[in-house]
Amino acid sequence: MIIVMKSGAAEEDLQRVIHTIEELGYQSHVIRGTQRSVIGAVGDERGKARLQSLEVLPGVESVVPILQPFKLASREFKRSQTVVKVGEVDIGGDRLVVIAGPCSVETEDQILETAKTVKEAGATILRGGAFKPRTSPYAFQGLGEEGLRLLAAARKETGLAIVTEVLKPEDVDLVAETADMLQIGARNMQNFALLKRVGEVKKPVLLKRGISSTIQEFLMAAEYVLSEGNYNIVLCERGIRTFETSTRFTLDLNAVPVIKKHSHLPVIVDPSHGTGHWEYVTPMAKAAIACGADGLMIEVHMRPEIAFSDGIQSLKPAAFRQLMQEVAPFAQAAGRRL
Ligand code: PEP
Ligand code: MN
Repeated sequence: MIIVMKSGAAEEDLQRVIHTIEELGYQSHVIRGTQRSVIGAVGDERGKARLQSLEVLPGVESVVPILQPFKLASREFKRSQTVVKVGEVDIGGDRLVVIAGPCSVETEDQILETAKTVKEAGATILRGGAFKPRTSPYAFQGLGEEGLRLLAAARKETGLAIVTEVLKPEDVDLVAETADMLQIGARNMQNFALLKRVGEVKKPVLLKRGISSTIQEFLMAAEYVLSEGNYNIVLCERGIRTFETSTRFTLDLNAVPVIKKHSHLPVIVDPSHGTGHWEYVTPMAKAAIACGADGLMIEVHMRPEIAFSDGIQSLKPAAFRQLMQEVAPFAQAAGRRL
């Protein structure tokens, strides 16, 4: 339910509504607008009719149900676009954000050199996995804590904000000490314990779409994080599994306008995992911007032929610089600064 306060309602009226919502066993989530405030009351769907009676409280204009199953993620609850701040970078504003870096953190030289390269080309956030979710238990699993230390060194050297993946609830505090943004990978999109844990830590979250998840399931996963009180979520379309075999995944760009319609959360696109081949990354990056993405996530490696993971889909520095030049007119056409 959404409780819409009257324009200019007193703070004590707002507090009374919050108190009553919580007394009825629901969580309250407040959006303070310039004109009026709205309060989302979420919790057990079965008793929600009781919330309707809040209409009689002083300062309340109306009580309306949220029809979508995802409540706090919906545009019904919050009409204005959310802007998520990662370090000094805004995602969801008028600037197109480019997150770039290697699939995995491998060595100090590798991450420092890549960080400098992507920064010079115009990226504002550095990516790199320290903890890697791998299909095979025999594949490189990441440097772990050492990888986090190297990412922190790269931030110190370049000033870039850091996004890196966290795999387990018990690692969230450790990863959050270094990361400016916590990545939840596609394979963990429905790891509900992990979603709740990153919801408790108020760091920005980059939530990647599961490879077999519907857009509704994706938004329900975001809802887990939001319902813990962490509103700093960026969604990432990274391709889904289809019958097509000429690309690693099928990059579902439909998701961008669909999510934009139903949710206020920013959406970025990862054409590296979405295609699985470096030569398709730039064309799909352009398409992502054209259909309204708030940013891109691009894998870059100094020497993809010796990368520990995802070399085939990683751009060399020159190709990344080229991408940045080629996407610029698309960003401009979409009304974004790069
Ligand atoms: C990654 O970004 O390196 C990654 C593992 O992505 P995904 O979870 O989308 O496969
Ligand atoms: Mn990867």
